[in-house]
Amino acid sequence: MAKIGKYEIIEELGRGGMGVVYKAYDALMEREVAIKVISDGVLALPEIKSRFYREARTAGKLSHENITVIYDVSEDEGRPYIVMEYLAGADLGAILDRSEPLPLQQKLEYAIQICRGLAFSHSRGIIHRDIKPGNIRITGDGKVKIMDFGIAKPESSNLTRTGALIGTPFYMSPEQIQGKKVDTRSDIFSFGVLFFELLTGKKPFPGSEPTSVMYKIVHEEPEQIDEHLIDRRTGLRDIVLKTLEKDPDRRYQDLSEVADALGHILAEMRSADRKKVLELKQKIDRLIAESRAFLSAGKFKKALETAERAAKFDPANTEIGRLSIEIRKAEEEAARKAFVESRLQDARRGYAAKKYENVIALTKQILESDPNNTEAQRLNRQAQDAITYAKTGEEQYAETMLAGPVAGKRREEQPAPQRKPTPPPQPVELPKKTPPSPARRKTLAIVAVVVLLAGLGISYRLFLYTPPVPTGFVMLNVRPWAQVTRVVGPGDTELPIDQNTMTPCRLALPAGSYTIHLANPAFGKPIVVTVDVKDAQMHEVKEKFAGFDIEQAVAKFQ
Ligand code: ATP
Ligand code: MG
Repeated sequence: MAKIGKYEIIEELGRGGMGVVYKAYDALMEREVAIKVISDGVLALPEIKSRFYREARTAGKLSHENITVIYDVSEDEGRPYIVMEYLAGADLGAILDRSEPLPLQQKLEYAIQICRGLAFSHSRGIIHRDIKPGNIRITGDGKVKIMDFGIAKPESSNLTRTGALIGTPFYMSPEQIQGKKVDTRSDIFSFGVLFFELLTGKKPFPGSEPTSVMYKIVHEEPEQIDEHLIDRRTGLRDIVLKTLEKDPDRRYQDLSEVADALGHILAEMRSADRKKVLELKQKIDRLIAESRAFLSAGKFKKALETAERAAKFDPANTEIGRLSIEIRKAEEEAARKAFVESRLQDARRGYAAKKYENVIALTKQILESDPNNTEAQRLNRQAQDAITYAKTGEEQYAETMLAGPVAGKRREEQPAPQRKPTPPPQPVELPKKTPPSPARRKTLAIVAVVVLLAGLGISYRLFLYTPPVPTGFVMLNVRPWAQVTRVVGPGDTELPIDQNTMTPCRLALPAGSYTIHLANPAFGKPIVVTVDVKDAQMHEVKEKFAGFDIEQAVAKFQ
């Protein structure tokens, strides 16, 4: 591997006016370095070696965050070289050549750092003498490093003339061009040219020939500064123009002053930006609140529109993103609820109209979209029960008609039961499917009477109670038929009754007021009648279950 002194060369970085720059490796220090080897042409200049060492020594004493560190100076086969810190990144020249312009604040940040680095070297009496974009390194983290203090020299030195014309003329000061004695203010002019170019993208003294450029630098005013590129209110124009004064006495005398002025402008711009950001944030917050209010009011379209307006100001805002999703979900949920509610209404109407098959279809639809909808579940169950029950009731009725107390009449003459939607809610004991035969009825009646008498006897014996003798009759006539389930007598006495007592029938009762309960499972609610029984009188109760239509029932059986 090729070496320069102890340094292993990695690659060539480029060639400038003074010589070649290599990237190399310092194995001892375990670090990458940049090495500038002075070219033969330069070496031919008188006194160059001594000048080189003196300047490198002086520059090597500069320790500032915006100045490239010089590690070492030495000679390899008679050629002096300078070892510096290796700086990854790009030259300001390359950055300026890029098509997309830098933001103004970024430009000011770079300019301030250049000013600070130069002001520091000036304070140590060192002039750079070759300030230009190619000698300004911008590292990856945005730090500025001024390179090539290798051709710098102490201010008091008179070794200026020989090196004066090294490099490009664009950034030279009038006094440099004229071969006059240069001081730190020459660097201030060079900085002014660089700053003009940094701000506007153009050179203040342009030209294709070095001679015309140099002429302009010495005799002409700089180019106009495009006002739209620099905020007029900042006063940047005046600062640039003052750095470009032909007469060094009229320029800024110290770049610290420029750095401070630029720092002030930058701070103001940032605070204005912060204010703008704050105002924008407030605006966005207001829009978000508005959108939320629309969302709560169920105005989804307006809510979404408002959220979108907010998103235009800050497309990356996650809160707006979440809000938009929330609105869309709420809108979908509302549509689903509306669908379920309309189907529920249809189902309720269907149920009232006894269209149970429809109710089942509708409630099924609802339950597909909302499986936990209790009303749909209930309606569905009721409709199914109604269908099943209506069938059962019909069968039961048919059987009753054939074998019941009114047996003997032709089946065809009997009224048919109504299909009732609701199952009987009364916890009555339903009659056995087959009504008892007359013989069985008789036996049961006897048993009942015996039980009744036994009960009465026990009561008599226990309470010396004389039961009233039945003196009146109640004739019960209920259509289509009813089971006598309860008879409540005076003093709320529950009279024992045969559960097989079916209408039409007669009850023999002592005088008094009675409440008689008559039930038919096909008709839900039982009929309750109150009868005042008087001695030796027959009371007739004629009732019909609500919803029982004799005409319809007869027609069905014809
Ligand atoms: P001049 O001699 O007028 O300064 P120049 O700046 O164009 O001319 P050089 O200084 O020789 O040329 O630099 C040659 C190349 O090496 C440039 O691309 C420069 O960016 C790069 N370079 C110089 N010093 C370093 C360094 N310390 N780290 C990384 N790259 C460097
Ligand atoms: Mg250079």
